[in-house]
Amino acid sequence: MPIIIQKNELEIIKKHAEEIFPYEACGGLLGRLEGENKIIVKVYPAENRFGKIAWDSFEIEPKDMLEMDKISRKENLDILGFYHTHPNHPAIPSNFDINASWPYYSYVILSVKGNSPGSVSDIKSYLMPDRNSSPVEEEIIAGK
Ligand SMILES: [Zn+2]
Repeated sequence: MPIIIQKNELEIIKKHAEEIFPYEACGGLLGRLEGENKIIVKVYPAENRFGKIAWDSFEIEPKDMLEMDKISRKENLDILGFYHTHPNHPAIPSNFDINASWPYYSYVILSVKGNSPGSVSDIKSYLMPDRNSSPVEEEIIAGK
């Protein structure tokens, strides 16, 4: 099942990734399931509870989770996944990511190398069916 992320929303994620660099950015992916597709129509840049840890620890602030939940209900969307960045590291799930994952969600990981526009070098999305098997990559399609 591919994940379709609207172009505008992809830009918001990239910008967030670059602004927070060298720290890790994270946020939510809100959208709908339409047939075989996941369509992300709104992203929610959140605060990282582990704000000052430079690489691979993220946890979305509870207040942001609540806010995402509120927006989803109001706009009839679902939280379909989360994104986070890997500053100066490749866009592949770490052990931390796998251990902290839930089966239902898509996990978008961005590799980012700096603060300037264009510093995001890679974006990948994964499903993590369970903690004992390898993450499964899903195709990202940029929506209109
Ligand atoms: Zn990670």
